Amino acid sequence: MILTLEDISKSYVNGSGTRVRKVLSNLNFSVAKGEMVAITGPSGSGKTTLLNIMGTLDAPDSGNIIFQGVSLAGKSNLEMAAFRNKSIGFVFQMHHLLPQLSAQENILLPTLAFSRKSNNISRAEMLMKALGIYDIRTQKPAELSGGECQRVAVARALINNPSLILADEPTGSLDNNNSRELVKLLKDVNTQFGTSMVMVTHNTTLAREMDKVYTLNDGVLTMAEI
Ligand code: ADP
Ligand code: MG
Repeated sequence: MILTLEDISKSYVNGSGTRVRKVLSNLNFSVAKGEMVAITGPSGSGKTTLLNIMGTLDAPDSGNIIFQGVSLAGKSNLEMAAFRNKSIGFVFQMHHLLPQLSAQENILLPTLAFSRKSNNISRAEMLMKALGIYDIRTQKPAELSGGECQRVAVARALINNPSLILADEPTGSLDNNNSRELVKLLKDVNTQFGTSMVMVTHNTTLAREMDKVYTLNDGVLTMAEI
């Protein structure tokens, strides 16, 4: 398994500290190497919370996270950040590209923190060619379409060669055609690089393109019929 969640629970307390909302309840989940998984569920059901916990952006109240056989319990924040940067690629609903940087500079951003490799530019060029954005590499986000920005965001997510991509409603700001294109592209990435993926989506048609579809409801994850 690439990622295993064991007995994960998470609650939020409101501002006054009185009311507790249990979002995830003893949740178990795993993703195999090369597997593509969709998570659907109503708004507010905890999909983003779950994805953030998978990506170590948020900590569960209890439970274990095991990444490629190694438990993340007890790791320091710095170790966690280094692990996250190297092993996980994130794609969000909004592309979160930096407006003052070109497409290529945005793609190279995650290599600045920890990478020791000098071949990042050639990897960026390879990814830009594979994702069909090589010709727009010197343009800034404001000069790109929404679909192009998401493809740049996918290239940025892939630059450190992660074993897992976590995508939170990556097609949420795209029209139907661009949504289909992006999912096709993510499937190509999966075929070409063997990257595992967990994609949160409201779109059941796109969810069915994945190997497995889960639904999150009342804190419980169940496998859906596809
Ligand atoms: P989804 O992504 O499925 O829409 P979220 O994971 O964003 O759901 O949120 C699940 C629930 O937890 C919602 O009721 C939301 O209001 C609540 N929630 C999310 N983040 C916080 C937070 N930081 N503090 C308090 N409540 C939160
Ligand atoms: Mg969400």
